[in-house]
Amino acid sequence: MSGFKVLVADDSPVYRKLVEHALAEDSCSVLFANSGHQAIEIFERERPDLIVTDWMMPDITGIELCQRIRADVHSSYTYVIILTSNAEKENVVKGLSAGADDYLTKPFDRNELLARIRVGQRLIDLHRQIEAKNRLLEELALTDPLTGLPNRRAIEDWSARQLSGAARHGFPMWVVLMDLDHFKNVNDTHGHEAGDTVLKKFSEVLRANTRLSDISGRIGGEEFLLVLTHADEKNVTVVVDRIRTQLAEERFEWNGTAIKVTASFGAAGFSGRKAPEFNQLVKQADAALYRAKDLGRNRIEFEAVISF
Ligand code: GH3
Ligand code: MG
Ligand code: MG
Repeated sequence: MSGFKVLVADDSPVYRKLVEHALAEDSCSVLFANSGHQAIEIFERERPDLIVTDWMMPDITGIELCQRIRADVHSSYTYVIILTSNAEKENVVKGLSAGADDYLTKPFDRNELLARIRVGQRLIDLHRQIEAKNRLLEELALTDPLTGLPNRRAIEDWSARQLSGAARHGFPMWVVLMDLDHFKNVNDTHGHEAGDTVLKKFSEVLRANTRLSDISGRIGGEEFLLVLTHADEKNVTVVVDRIRTQLAEERFEWNGTAIKVTASFGAAGFSGRKAPEFNQLVKQADAALYRAKDLGRNRIEFEAVISF
């Protein structure tokens, strides 16, 4: 049971000792609380996997403890075993409906306690596996598989939050839409695989030039988006120009031939007290990008800063 954390909450030193003794040869780590409030405090700090709690404690009951634990929806699942005396057995229904997973009557049998803790551990292990898988799925749902960069949804989620922050705290925000130039030619001349390599290379350039406080990603095909906060037009020009030249100077060797690729950039900014929709900013950036293409590509164009 290595790494498995058990919290024992009981106001009776005798029962704390008995449980400690029962778990002595187990490799789980055991924490003790001698009151309900201490149990809550330890629970919040240590996030145990399993709690063995007394039914009646002077400050709060095992039921209340259960309810507190179940109310904490952000924490991982904690398995709860209630210890009751025989006289309180009719209350077991109440305990289980308050969120306890199991109960044991005092005086308990050491092996039975261990067996029930193992049942709890099996369930917790499954929970942890599911939680890890869910985290992975969530990450995959926000990642572009080819480049590993955030995808459109991830950028939209992040930007919507940042936009309201920008309006509340009065910092500017910029959206830069980027599109590879004549990319269809790369695919047509060298094949789709060569095209993918170029997309990956561009992602690296983008990643290397994105601050931790900003975000960049691939929103589809050969279109990328960079969102910057706390920047003015001059800062944006510097960053984008660095990205633009690094890509333009890159030489892709493909089956012995060199491929040169450039990109065009359209930027739109917001600064003010009322945030626009993120899509409105993207639309403005798209208009600027269209101009950049029209004016000869491999360049950046700006839309006037939106201010509300
Ligand atoms: P422009 O300079 O006007 O942007 O010209 P373009 O050729 O880049 O633009 P167009 O929209 O005509 O073509 C985009 C091309 O991008 C077409 C498509 O084959 C290619 N493309 C889109 N997604 C992918 C991808 O995932 N991998 C590869 N290799 N190519 C892609
Ligand atoms: Mg293109
Ligand atoms: Mg395109």
